[in-house]
Amino acid sequence: MNNLVLSLAPKLTNLQTLVLRQDKPQLLDNAIETIANCCHDLQDLDLSKSFKLSDHSLYALAHGCPNLVKLNISGCSAFSDTALVYLASFCRKIKYLNLCGCVKAASDEALKAIGHNCNQLKSLNLGWCEQVGDAGVKCLAYGCPDLRALDLCGCVLITDDSVVALANNCLHLRSLGLYYCQNITDKAMYSLAYSRVKNKREMLTSMKNRYEDEGLMNLNVSQCTALTPPAVQAVCDSFPALHTCSGRHSLMISGCLNLTSVHCACTVQAHQAASAFSHPAH
Ligand SMILES: [Zn+2]
Repeated sequence: MNNLVLSLAPKLTNLQTLVLRQDKPQLLDNAIETIANCCHDLQDLDLSKSFKLSDHSLYALAHGCPNLVKLNISGCSAFSDTALVYLASFCRKIKYLNLCGCVKAASDEALKAIGHNCNQLKSLNLGWCEQVGDAGVKCLAYGCPDLRALDLCGCVLITDDSVVALANNCLHLRSLGLYYCQNITDKAMYSLAYSRVKNKREMLTSMKNRYEDEGLMNLNVSQCTALTPPAVQAVCDSFPALHTCSGRHSLMISGCLNLTSVHCACTVQAHQAASAFSHPAH
């Protein structure tokens, strides 16, 4: 595969999308350097699981592909945060970034650089990036107000401070993954629920985005064992697109044994309909 890329890239100078997803990693830095030298219009690049690549690849992309909008380097565990900081300062049009499993690259320093440079960011996957802390997430929240999807699953260091910053600054957030973030408490849930109330009020006065702003549509708090039912219920009640009912499961609470009493509106309605049927006198 590496040789194929080396021979084809110089002939594909107008290339905009390139998916180099591999089951068995074969790509080497010289292939990515050739792509970066030849394909300056590249907007969408998928290098997931290329764990033989080193920082040289990110430096080459930073120089050769400033128009990148979508970059997937999930599982590229050899990249360092110095190289990611560098990339963020050149590729400032990035909207979709997948860093899942980039444990070394996704540091708070790297998130600061992303928040500072990539202000159009809409989607970021930081799954299992265990170095990520509140300082980095806060920089993202302040720098990327258009963020729609953020996956922080397994980011074990983050606390309520991260979620509060996101709730206050990223009012278009649709999907938030907090799986296994065990420092998260009710405070985070209430800040999300309150952001909805505040956002609704602002929408009514400005009358804009009335139809597209549905708020959170996906929230994963599975294994966040410190959460209590009233706080999670408050979030569920604030965002009508969040469901716990079977088949929809857009509010994921598995592993939280004390949250079994949290229910979406349809479950409550179904219960009311059932009890009205069984007690017709009421
Ligand atoms: Zn439901």
